[in-house]
Amino acid sequence: MTRDKAVASGNAVTFRGRGLGLRLGTRLVVLVCPLCSQRNAQRGAERGICEWCAYVPSLRDAERVEET
Ligand SMILES: [Zn+2]
Repeated sequence: MTRDKAVASGNAVTFRGRGLGLRLGTRLVVLVCPLCSQRNAQRGAERGICEWCAYVPSLRDAERVEET
């Protein structure tokens, strides 16, 4: 998913201003990892972690992305 599509969905979040994810209820999906900046693999995204560095997103770190 592109950043534009994620933002348009209304569920886009960053993790303290970095990376890109989706908030689905209480679940967080990592699309772009804030730690290693890698675009996450589908498998990792579905598990809610970064497939590259095993980053686990926290709801505390998730900040809603406003559509501009
Ligand atoms: Zn990572």
